[in-house]
Amino acid sequence: MRYETVIGLEVHVELATASKIFCGCSTKFGQEINTQCCPICLGMPGVLPKLNKKVVDYALKAALALNCKINQETKFDRKNYFYPDLPKAYQISQYDKPIGEHGYIDITVDGEVRRIGITRIHMEEDAGKLLHESDPTSSLIDLNRTGVPLIEIVSEPDLRSPEEAREYLMQLRNILKYIDVSDVKMEEGSLRCDANISLRPYGQETFGTKTELKNLNSFKWIAKGIEHEMARQKLLLDSGEKVTQETRRFDVNTQKTVLMRSKEEAHDYRYFPDPDLVTVEISDDWIKEAKASMPELPEKKKIRFMETYQLPEYDAGIITGEKELAQFFEDTAKEFRGEAKVISNWVMGDLMRLLNSENKEISDCAVTAKDMASMLNLIEDGTISGKIAKTVFEEMFLTGKEPKTIIAEKGLVQISDVSELEKIIDEVIGKDIKSVRDFQNGNKKALGFFMGQVMRQSGGKANPKVVNELLAKKLNAFEIKE
Ligand SMILES: [Zn+2]
Repeated sequence: MRYETVIGLEVHVELATASKIFCGCSTKFGQEINTQCCPICLGMPGVLPKLNKKVVDYALKAALALNCKINQETKFDRKNYFYPDLPKAYQISQYDKPIGEHGYIDITVDGEVRRIGITRIHMEEDAGKLLHESDPTSSLIDLNRTGVPLIEIVSEPDLRSPEEAREYLMQLRNILKYIDVSDVKMEEGSLRCDANISLRPYGQETFGTKTELKNLNSFKWIAKGIEHEMARQKLLLDSGEKVTQETRRFDVNTQKTVLMRSKEEAHDYRYFPDPDLVTVEISDDWIKEAKASMPELPEKKKIRFMETYQLPEYDAGIITGEKELAQFFEDTAKEFRGEAKVISNWVMGDLMRLLNSENKEISDCAVTAKDMASMLNLIEDGTISGKIAKTVFEEMFLTGKEPKTIIAEKGLVQISDVSELEKIIDEVIGKDIKSVRDFQNGNKKALGFFMGQVMRQSGGKANPKVVNELLAKKLNAFEIKE
């Protein structure tokens, strides 16, 4: 039997506010355990939560960027469950009036654009963290994270493959980073993803029974985890067994999904309105202001880059994936005299390779857009060859020096002077009469061979265009003395 995969993602994103959602405690990551809590976030009896306006502002921006309809009257509810990382035994979340609903994002997979629906986006507080390392018989609790503001973004079950799920998450991350509401670092837990996965025979309308896969905490493991769960469900269905609705976890070490608990339904949580918090009213002006502060979003920028700079979709997608990288590209394009595709080749090639190998972001890169453009202009006007430019660029990346300085210091200027090049060519030709004969007998490969020799002799500095012309002329005219 062939099955269609149905995937919906639930994504939790920590908002980058300086303080928590209902108290003034700091949200700073990686601090000493239990140093960033107060009676409010510890849930002491009698304390009252006070809503951080910035959280609503960030959530509103996210909802608008994800094309959601805004609930202008939005309220908080208590989600009741008992777990040691939750001191109040309830989490303040949103139930029937989330801040945004009915949104979407467009993703492109294999050249095809698909619109993925967003069911809802709501605000809530994060729970604490259990630490199991110190003692095998007990757990410790760090409550620094308790009360850190989150938004949860729930997609429709519109995704059909692990690749689409990955692309959706990537797009979502890019958008949230663009609008500066979160640092979206999966490795620090500020972006966390759970997936609902089910299979159904092709052509069937109704959904199969789904399982929830928890904590897919890197882009690499998202696709892998989903693939393994798909395979497990297929095996069950093919052998006539049923998939049970449950929560599972992907184990990176065994590459299997393992059972955590049977799945809860919303009614298990006994949601009810939080009596300590009033309804939040979001005015038309507030929405207008949030819209006005919004930058150009990645998908729109991508299309503009394809039109303005004639970039292929692939290049435009990568470069606009990050706001700072897109800015770097545009600043370079302003000063570069050649075609924009040359810039995208360098950005996606040498620049990204060096950034990755040094584990750096474009924002802490020593090469400025101005220097990048002037280096590319030096290739364009023939001062340096493309090959030499790679050396120059590496040095720029390491030292932050201007390309002209590096070229002067290392004597890397391209040799275009005819008499100087002729001297090298004569020497190279004179050494290998056999290859000259080959050339004259019609073996054009011999030209490439001599070209390589001249480049080597000149330390890579010979201007290939000039050498090519001179070589052909010289080889044709060379008289072999028998
Ligand atoms: Zn606190």
